[in-house]
Order: sequence, then structure tokens, then C-alpha cells
Amino acid sequence: MAGKVLAAVATDVKTTELQSFEMPSVDQDGGILKVETVGVCGSDVDYYRKKLSPRILGHHIVGTIEQLSEAAAKRWGLKVGDRVAMEEYIPCGQCDFCRTGFYRSCLTTDPRSGGIRYGATPLDVKPSLFGGFAQYLYLHPNAVLHKMPKHVPGIEAALTLPLANGFEWMSIIGQAGPGDTVLIQGPGQQGLACALAAKAAGAEKVIVTGRKTSLKRLELSLNLGADHIINISEQPLVETVREITDGKMANLVIDVTSGGSEPVLTSLQCGARGGTVLFGAYKYQGIDAFDLDVVIKNTLTLKGVRGHSFQSVRMAVDFISSGKFPLAMMNSHDYALKDTDMALKTAGNEGEPMPLLVTVSPWK
Ligand SMILES: [Zn+2]
Ligand SMILES: [Zn+2]
Repeated sequence: MAGKVLAAVATDVKTTELQSFEMPSVDQDGGILKVETVGVCGSDVDYYRKKLSPRILGHHIVGTIEQLSEAAAKRWGLKVGDRVAMEEYIPCGQCDFCRTGFYRSCLTTDPRSGGIRYGATPLDVKPSLFGGFAQYLYLHPNAVLHKMPKHVPGIEAALTLPLANGFEWMSIIGQAGPGDTVLIQGPGQQGLACALAAKAAGAEKVIVTGRKTSLKRLELSLNLGADHIINISEQPLVETVREITDGKMANLVIDVTSGGSEPVLTSLQCGARGGTVLFGAYKYQGIDAFDLDVVIKNTLTLKGVRGHSFQSVRMAVDFISSGKFPLAMMNSHDYALKDTDMALKTAGNEGEPMPLLVTVSPWK
């Protein structure tokens, strides 16, 4: 199918403009996705603020298969018209990481190691359409797709990847379960997803922390099932956790706050004896006052977490499809393709007020 594709291209620091592309040919392999809704991720906002070679951002993607090569149809077991949620990864499928299920660590799909993935691939990698903020995108032969039932609203389906991270970190890695107290630092998209996943896993108490500026998101976390919130601009964090837990502190702690070393230190202080402390957000700085002794004293397990597995994406798709959770309330702004620039600004607290989760629906 010939034709043109409109896409919002991040061309410079805090600049996104609409550009037109040729529809790629998928005669040999791969396919074309008609993009329905794309969630704006914190990493999209990070990219948007940086000087980078031009690229199409957006990787929390749900859409409908528009074209499919014969080879890809066979490989994926999909047909034209099927609705899918995509993973951002384009793994090689052959390396040790891929072979053992950790394809999120495959160097072929790691932009930090020169690899490509959806929402992070420069235009000069052809056929350029590797981002969700577009009418259509190219389905690479190694794309990872999950069927998404048609009854799920687009703005909820676009939560698949953040929720998958929540299940990966809380359930699969953190092993949260009945009787556990879970402390989540940062009420952003990842933090809210962790709160949902921890409650779904049966955690007894889920505590979410945030600053005064994110009070609306903190309150949202209560509506999503969190048991306690701590506004750290006004309440002393460690003491409040001690009160809530009768001194036992949290079996599982995760820091998903952006920037700042303070949450790293308080996360360690809030860990229960034998507890696990996970770190899911880059700090881009060293941590001066890091206290190793508290790690030893409380026999803490520290672990960095990054991304999701195939299994956790499945869990997220099932969770969303069940329709049992008030996920639509997480969405505050849904923009048209021409307003992608404002979507990125709003998601980064520089656009319209009071953002929760922000999406772009290119055909709206
Ligand atoms: Zn993301
Ligand atoms: Zn690989």
C-alpha cells in the first residue's frame, strides 16, 4: 500500500513537528500498525528535553494491524484487523539474554548500547517509523506483540507497559504477597502501576509517597487501592512509615522518583529487616551520603530493576482486560497527533495543568 504517513518528530530540544513519510513496504517481512493510542512515558519526556538526532517518540502503543507480510503473520499468529499492545523492544532473539527470557537486556534493543527500540530510534534507521506518535508505524520482524481484546478502551490499553513494569517489579521480582507492606516512592505512572500491581498481588499495606506538587496523583493512588499516602513536603517520611507499620517498616520498597539522591537514602531507611529495596529510576548522579551500614544491619537486598518480561506484559493485559479496575481515572489528557508537542509538555508538568497520565490518539 502506497501513501503518506504523518508523524510527530522530535526535531530539537522541546520541539516536535509533524512530518510526512512514505508508507514502508512489508512485502518481505514485518507489518504496519495503525496506531490507536499511545501513552506518554517519563522516558519520552526525558528524550523530548534532550538534544538528540530527530526521531519519533512514543512506545506505550496500542493499535490495529493494517498490513502484514505472510512471514510475519505466520510468526506472530496474527492477521490484519487484530488489535495489539506492543512492547518497546526489538530484540535479536538469538543472544543469551533473549534465549533465557531476558530479552529486555538484549544489546540489539538497548539504546544505551546503540540498539534500537520503539520510541527511541533515530529517523536515519529506515524505514524511520519506529515511534508511536504517528498515524502508522513499522512492525519490525522482531517486534513483540500482545493481542488486546477490542472491548478495552484505548486509554486503558495504553497502560499495558507501565502496568507490566508494575507486575514485573512488585510481583515477579519483589515477590509481594499477603502480609507484606510495600512502600512506593514516587506517584508517577510507574509508581501508580506498582501500587495496583502490589495490591493485585495481595500486599497487606501499600504506602505511596510524593511531594506536595503531586498531591493529585497521591490521592489517585488511594482511589486505585493504596492504603496510605505520605506527602513528604509536610510529613516526615521515615517516622510516618514507622508509625503506619508499628515499627516493622516495609518488606518491599521501590524508588521510582525522578532525580535526587534523597529517596535512595530514605528507601534504605524504610526497609524492614530482611527486606528488599528496588531502584527503578536513573539518578544521573552519585549518591554522597550512601549508608552501607543500614544495608548490612537490616540485611537488605538491593536490586536495580528495568523494564518487563513477556510474562508480566501478559499479566498486565489480563489485568486490564478484566475491566475490574478503575483505570480510566488515571488518564487526564488525551491529545490528537498535531498536539503531540503539548502532550509531551503536559506530561512533563510544563503544559496544561494537573496532568495524571497523558495519551496521544493520532486519529482523534
Ligand atoms: Zn515507557
Ligand atoms: Zn538478543
